Amino acid sequence: MPIERRIYSLKCRRPISRRIRKAELVMSETEDKGDSMAQILFPMIRQVDEFFQTSFGRQGYQDLERPIEMFIHAFKSSGIARFYHTTKRDYIVFGDGDKKNFYSPVAALDIVAHEMMHGYFTYLCPVKYGFSDGGAILEHLCDIFGVKVRRHEEGGDWKVGNGYTRKTPAIRDLENPKNPSMLLRANEHIDQKSRYRSQQSLYENAGILSKSFVLAENGYSGVEDEAILKIWYKALQNIPRNCDFNQFAHTVRAFADLSGSETAQAVDNAFKEVGL
Ligand SMILES: [Zn+2]
Repeated sequence: MPIERRIYSLKCRRPISRRIRKAELVMSETEDKGDSMAQILFPMIRQVDEFFQTSFGRQGYQDLERPIEMFIHAFKSSGIARFYHTTKRDYIVFGDGDKKNFYSPVAALDIVAHEMMHGYFTYLCPVKYGFSDGGAILEHLCDIFGVKVRRHEEGGDWKVGNGYTRKTPAIRDLENPKNPSMLLRANEHIDQKSRYRSQQSLYENAGILSKSFVLAENGYSGVEDEAILKIWYKALQNIPRNCDFNQFAHTVRAFADLSGSETAQAVDNAFKEVGL
């Protein structure tokens, strides 16, 4: 059964809960009120959910039949994309873009997929989100899985947010974290690790793990479909709440060893190259 999708129009500066409850439904499986942003976003939700169902047999964030809900036209004049988790509801809020840096986030499938991954990993991954290795690990996972969805659907490289930014080709480059033409340059070796003090530092350090993932994919010599992604998927469910980068690499290596010598070799080489 395909997951049910609902998109609401939230015309306010902040997604306060009162506004969330009053937001107008503009697109669902049975309704289309003609909002052009909703019409772009609606099929993307299906693409992400189908990728997750096909690859991992999981439907929706919680593996329940709860609909996937999104709120658009929020944070007027901002390019924000953000996942919210409450006890009653999970939802993603998207802005319309700003005049300076961003178009609307729905311009890039990997940005939409990144936010949806926060939804899946809220239930699948025990790691605590914060200004710590845990937060960087989660941003890394959302980037990698988000880009994998986009590569599956549209092909392309390892850059995140192509079409989302006004002055740069994309936001982050997972294959070449120090790419100077990106909106955000990240780290690519453990020796360069930043101190955690802002959201940006999470993305900077996530670059180290993302680089290792791309190296592992490029170095994998076996024939199994998505072998490296499946190892990451197993590892992310089996890391501790306060996981650091070394524990993360250790867990990924353990699952890579179980999957055979080709994966073990590729993963070990990749982590060594980034200093883990
Ligand atoms: Zn994120």
